[in-house]
Amino acid sequence: MSLIVQKYGGTSVGTVERIQAVAERAGKAVQEGHQLVVVVSAMSGETDRLLNLAKAIQNPPAPRELDAMLSTGEQVTIGLLAMALQARGIDAVSFTGGQIPITTDSAYNKARIVDIDATRVRQELERGKVAVVAGFQGIDAGGSITTLGRGGSDTTAVALAAALKADECQIYTDVDGVYTTDPRIVPEARRLDRITYEEMLEMASLGAKVLQIRSVEFASKYQVTLRVLSSFMDGPGTLITTEENIMEAALISGVTLNRDEAKLTIVGVPDRPGIASHILGPVADANIEVDMIVQNSGADGSADFTFTVHRNDYERALGICQATSAELKARKVEGDRKIVKVSIVGVGMRSHAGIASRMFRALAAEGVNLQMISTSEIKISVVVDEKYGELAVRILHSEFGLAGASTAA
Ligand code: ASP
Ligand code: MG
Repeated sequence: MSLIVQKYGGTSVGTVERIQAVAERAGKAVQEGHQLVVVVSAMSGETDRLLNLAKAIQNPPAPRELDAMLSTGEQVTIGLLAMALQARGIDAVSFTGGQIPITTDSAYNKARIVDIDATRVRQELERGKVAVVAGFQGIDAGGSITTLGRGGSDTTAVALAAALKADECQIYTDVDGVYTTDPRIVPEARRLDRITYEEMLEMASLGAKVLQIRSVEFASKYQVTLRVLSSFMDGPGTLITTEENIMEAALISGVTLNRDEAKLTIVGVPDRPGIASHILGPVADANIEVDMIVQNSGADGSADFTFTVHRNDYERALGICQATSAELKARKVEGDRKIVKVSIVGVGMRSHAGIASRMFRALAAEGVNLQMISTSEIKISVVVDEKYGELAVRILHSEFGLAGASTAA
């Protein structure tokens, strides 16, 4: 007998019929003899509906009061699912975050879990009940309801799995696993059997939105074995685990496309110590996150300084650069919103030289110009013109044999 935490997202509990289907699936795990905790999101669209209601009254809404009402979406689904289980003759009991309790800090709307007291849940499991837990919410030291940020139910599930030392945390969603790339761009994209936490973190932060990033960080920190599966079809899903559990790592696990970036260049800044901090200081002060940075020194004692930011921050960053440019008597500021970032990710890169040059050669052969490059231990990213983004993904997916090769098992 093992202890399993299952998490069902909004689409999986979006209608009464789907809640019945979740009860059916959960019932199967109980019949197989597992102890079961089920974490649920609000019904699909519900959190957005509540958010819009709040904004119609007060914009921006008061953070504490917003959490008090946003958390009700999940409270509805725990009640409904517990009923659906009971109606099937399965003993089930619902818990809000505060009832567990899942204690968080008081950063409303983006609270972090501080502690989970698993005693009550464990007692109910010992009594043979299924614990149905509201995702996305907790309670702070003062007793106020908090929420964990959009997509936070994933984190609730992983944190609970860690606190209960569960054997596996299964995330049921509307896709049947993690793919080598976006199947809408490359129809031959393949579901991965296994992937490491690190790779998943890189893929998630690069735009593969299967799991909330924080939940993967949590899983990695506490070594919770995660599995992403479809709630609409049967299949093994994708296991997210430690590198040791993956016998033979593939060279490259995935290719990602991030369309959220924009590029800024200050042309002709004086090439002397302190320039980078002079330029990026005010950007950081404005709370704008910088991703890639490149500085090119010219022969004339001046340099061009280029960096990328989230597209939503582009206008603000441009204004800041113009001010800095005037201060530094730079030649001009250039901005480009029509760029994308294409990356390859894989722990196999660590033990293989020449991956970068192979990537660059494949792109060059098809005439894709690289504007910026950055590398980490398990990732290589390039910035290219927006119009080449999907082409670059297809080139790399085929260059590294992601469609055909078998997954690391
Ligand atoms: N219901 C929340 C949201 O829509 C939390 C979640 O679904 O994970 O963001
Ligand atoms: Mg989600």
